[in-house]
Amino acid sequence: PSPLLTPDRQPEDPDAALRPKSLREFVGQEAARENLRVFIEAARGRSEAMDHVLFFGPPGLGKTTLAQIVAKELGVGFRATSGPVIAKAGDLAALLTNLESGDVLFIDEIHRLNPVVEEVLYPAMEDRALDLIIGEGPAARSVRIDLPPFTLVGATTRQGLLTTPLRDRFGIPVRLNFYTVEELEKVVTRAATLLGLKIDPDGATEIARRARGTPRVAGRLLRRVRDFADVARSDTVTRRLADDALTRLEVDSLGLDAMDRRYLHMIADIYKGGPVGVETLAAGLSEPRDTIEEVIEPYLIQLGLVARTARGRCLNDRGWAHLGLTPPRSAMP
Ligand code: ADP
Repeated sequence: PSPLLTPDRQPEDPDAALRPKSLREFVGQEAARENLRVFIEAARGRSEAMDHVLFFGPPGLGKTTLAQIVAKELGVGFRATSGPVIAKAGDLAALLTNLESGDVLFIDEIHRLNPVVEEVLYPAMEDRALDLIIGEGPAARSVRIDLPPFTLVGATTRQGLLTTPLRDRFGIPVRLNFYTVEELEKVVTRAATLLGLKIDPDGATEIARRARGTPRVAGRLLRRVRDFADVARSDTVTRRLADDALTRLEVDSLGLDAMDRRYLHMIADIYKGGPVGVETLAAGLSEPRDTIEEVIEPYLIQLGLVARTARGRCLNDRGWAHLGLTPPRSAMP
């Protein structure tokens, strides 16, 4: 997928600068926000650490942002790391023993923890204790170290990627969904203000429509459009300017890039609309199956262009229409 539209964090993304700092400022995800508000208030009222939270949903929807907001609204410290970074059990032990009472420890990509490290996390989450083995061979013994109360906030793309014992230890699972165009308009308008850029409501809509339901992509498209505005010496982003810029960047009217269109064309042209298995598509597109399932498909399914069925992927009527094609009669069930 093109770097412009990938929901994954890119080094140059202005994530930190555009992050909302409070639940009030955070756009969308109504259900998640309302629930968090209650849990935060309850924990504060009891002066206790909040229960462990698991955020799950596609990349770029605000999991890291919400974790920081939770810490801020709880009035506690925030430490961040990620699953693949914690190589050894000792690394996690060091992180945990350095926490202050009530702190939030954020572990991004928590499904990628090494199993040995994950074992250390279980008693830490459940009993706020570390079980360490000291010494080797027959002299080895286990000692238990108490930890300060803390809140673990984990983030993952899909809840099902976690092992059951880990998943069960999160008291507060929170699903994040793709944003609506209206919500993304607010995200774009807010980001434009922060970047000191004037934008017409129609200009914001045009970017929002093409941002794949993802605030991170919206922020990135806005910055690219700003480049075009600067070069055109235009002081306001209009619909026309946004449309021209995004079309030149090969982002189509629904926010699909060349890779998405290749995926759709493969189902349409070669498999007559499907069903076709994901492995077959992965081989045909020379992309790893994970990329197809985690990056390309969620948004196409969300748009209703493609359906995942037991027998494989099928192109829906909307998918055919977006390609400007008519479904072959023989493909009809
Ligand atoms: P994730 O951790 O889910 O990959 P992030 O929290 O890093 O996503 O968010 C990605 C970018 O999108 C950040 O720049 C963030 O400021 C912005 N963003 C995410 N959610 C919102 C929101 N609800 N309102 C405004 N901006 C948001």
